[in-house]
Amino acid sequence: MRTIVDWHIHSKYARACSKDLVLPTIAPWCVRKGIDVVTTGDWTHPEWFKHIKECLVEERQGIFRLRPSTGSGSTMLSPERAKRVEGKETEFMLVQEVSQIYKKGDKTRRVHNLIFSPSIETCEKVIAMMQARGFNLKADGRPILGIDSEELYVRLKEIDEKMIVVPAHAWTPWYAIFGSKSGFDSIEECFGSMTPYIYAIETGLSSDPAMNWKLSALDSVVMISNSDAHSPRNLGREANVFSFDEPPTFDDFVRVLKEKDASKFLYTIEFYPQEGKYHFDGCAACQFSCAPSESKKIDYRCPHCKRPLTLGVHHRVEALADRPHSSAKGHIPFRSIVPLAEIIAEVFGVASTTSKRVQEEYFRLTDHHANEFTLLLDTPLEDIRRWASDPLLAEAIDRMRTGHLTIKPGYDGLYGQVKIFGEHGAPKPKQANLL
Ligand SMILES: [Zn+2]
Ligand SMILES: [Zn+2]
Repeated sequence: MRTIVDWHIHSKYARACSKDLVLPTIAPWCVRKGIDVVTTGDWTHPEWFKHIKECLVEERQGIFRLRPSTGSGSTMLSPERAKRVEGKETEFMLVQEVSQIYKKGDKTRRVHNLIFSPSIETCEKVIAMMQARGFNLKADGRPILGIDSEELYVRLKEIDEKMIVVPAHAWTPWYAIFGSKSGFDSIEECFGSMTPYIYAIETGLSSDPAMNWKLSALDSVVMISNSDAHSPRNLGREANVFSFDEPPTFDDFVRVLKEKDASKFLYTIEFYPQEGKYHFDGCAACQFSCAPSESKKIDYRCPHCKRPLTLGVHHRVEALADRPHSSAKGHIPFRSIVPLAEIIAEVFGVASTTSKRVQEEYFRLTDHHANEFTLLLDTPLEDIRRWASDPLLAEAIDRMRTGHLTIKPGYDGLYGQVKIFGEHGAPKPKQANLL
């Protein structure tokens, strides 16, 4: 049974997040996207934790579902259809991102970590520990904690030895374990005695596993990928694909990560890393960007304003890499995707993925035909050709599946741009779209 998992999202209580991020809305969006298991995120936030306890009921060890009473309660729908529309089949886990700011050595460090909790009771104990230390958990769904990463992990293991910590978006410049601005050069430097318990790192949108495979130091961990969604439509931008014979529990997932079990962890679903906001080096104010090899020649300064360039993830990976080429041997493979709404927008020749036409087509396909991951990864092209309002969508998905794309890399906080049909956009038949 294929199980697609997204372990990093936020709630409406996290900074800069959509008001729609509540559990009864997240669940049906996951059905539309094809996500089987999603995290609640943000359980250290008092209001969100209350919402979690009201809405969810434990299904298996560490795996939750919406209570039958939650949701629209529409009696107009057949039970099967209601289950789908209300997202009753979506399962939840308790994975929380925290932002840690602390001094180590003589440097200020800023690191984001994911905390995996097996139960509501364990979350309660963690919250009590954090409150006792005077941390402000109300200000943000992703709280800022003044605690060293190694020390935090020790405290969590004392509370419940089942808990694990996974460094989040490991390469982003400002808030990550390997970030160029305030991170570390190795897992050991950050986690010290707790290093053996780091089973995985999250690659983040701006890097993909192949880039990480250039570091022999990361051979001991698996790469996971999640959406870090701040709105429902970004759920599952990246995800993890497993295959289990029985419905998995919390312990099953942790065991697979710990043992790097490639018979269960099939692959990750990735953004093209160039599309991420911090892939290349650059200066957003001057709209200047370049490859790491170029920025060295210009002394890492913007040629226009002369300020230091923000060095991207590509640069940082190259700096720490100890292999000339990445080798897939012994690693969990990955597949690269472009979000369906972006593909539809390009086929229609419109700039915005939130335009009415794009949204209508997106909802029509995912309501009536298949979920987004199935359409992107599995659906035969003949079917897509029949279902889509423009048959060019099938060709676009084919190009995405085979990697025939052009990409302008993102830099300094600006997203990169993926073009499936190159600079000039989708070819249009002469009679079509006379409007
Ligand atoms: Zn983060
Ligand atoms: Zn500049």
